[in-house]
Amino acid sequence: MLHEQRGKDVEAEILKLKVELLCRGARLGTKIDRGRKVGAGPAGGRCIILPGGSCVNTPLWGDFVKESKLVLIKRGDEWGLLKGDNLEAEVELVPYPRFYSQKTSDGVPMWKVALLHGKDCLATTVYQKCVYWDTGKKCKFCGIELSLNADKTIAIKKPKQFCEVVEAAVEEGVCGHITLTTGTTASRDRGAKLLAEVVGEVKAYKEIPVHVQLEPPKNSRYLELLAENGADTIGIHVESFDQRVLKEVCPGKVKTEIEKYFEAWRHSVELFGEGQVSSFIIAGLGEDDESILKGSEELARIGVIPYLVPLRPIIGTEFENRWPPSPLRMIRLYEGIANILIRYGLDPRKSKAGCVRCGGCSALSEAFAQHHH
Ligand code: SF4
Repeated sequence: MLHEQRGKDVEAEILKLKVELLCRGARLGTKIDRGRKVGAGPAGGRCIILPGGSCVNTPLWGDFVKESKLVLIKRGDEWGLLKGDNLEAEVELVPYPRFYSQKTSDGVPMWKVALLHGKDCLATTVYQKCVYWDTGKKCKFCGIELSLNADKTIAIKKPKQFCEVVEAAVEEGVCGHITLTTGTTASRDRGAKLLAEVVGEVKAYKEIPVHVQLEPPKNSRYLELLAENGADTIGIHVESFDQRVLKEVCPGKVKTEIEKYFEAWRHSVELFGEGQVSSFIIAGLGEDDESILKGSEELARIGVIPYLVPLRPIIGTEFENRWPPSPLRMIRLYEGIANILIRYGLDPRKSKAGCVRCGGCSALSEAFAQHHH
């Protein structure tokens, strides 16, 4: 069984367990509230803390989870992961924060405005709609408007509303950093203006590290606006380096040429610094390993962190019955990318805010730690 002691073997075991949880999820041996089923990003899970402190945004919903060998159990007050009869690890569940039961001054339940991700990352989708949903060209893995339609959130998070949630989360001691994402707007800023407004409001209240995510805006001026308003890190997500896959899976997003991504990444590295810019890469969309490793190397070369995640099939999306890639494949890819990062002198553990710092959806930092000795 895994416990707190460190060492190379333990690190390798943690990496293996984290990847298995990300790719296969955990079945429930105990009744619990399973967290949000839908939403933007990798929804459909709860955050589990492994021995040593790694957190895992663990899928608990979906067809593929039924086949998972890992079972989440509770004995007395202790949580654990069973595999067969063997207790693989004692774990912790990040408790739901108290601010979920509070309301903003205009009467909106705070859990509809922002959620706690990972251990201490307050996250929200400031604009919960996306232009590609209107035009029938949405990304097939994405559930951004599902939570809106299910009345689990509100369409636009006003800067003041969000700031009130930040204050409540800070008071409770659960807000170490912030992730702000957005659906893509039809306007030239791609959502940057509202993001920048929200960042400005947060920073006027308190110096908390803030991460923003968006598509490359039409004009690089909007990236500068985000930096000027105080954003600390930025994610510009290409999703896949395989153009054939992108055309099939992201028929709307694919219209933004890859050159535009590179321009935005380069400019962002100038604004936010090396290793403070990232891109999600999703494995399991039909691409091969080479496209992921080659793309990751191109990113690392310009100072961008390739944040590799396995596909998360979200209920209600076109991909709900898909399976994430195999844990073996993911470990191979994580190790490949960790070595690339080491070669280019980028350390994901130094990210100031957002998904790379949180690490709930990717085992990149664990793979990096294992190889970086
Ligand atoms: S890695 Fe990003 S999307 Fe995943 S739990 Fe953390 S903040 Fe949320």
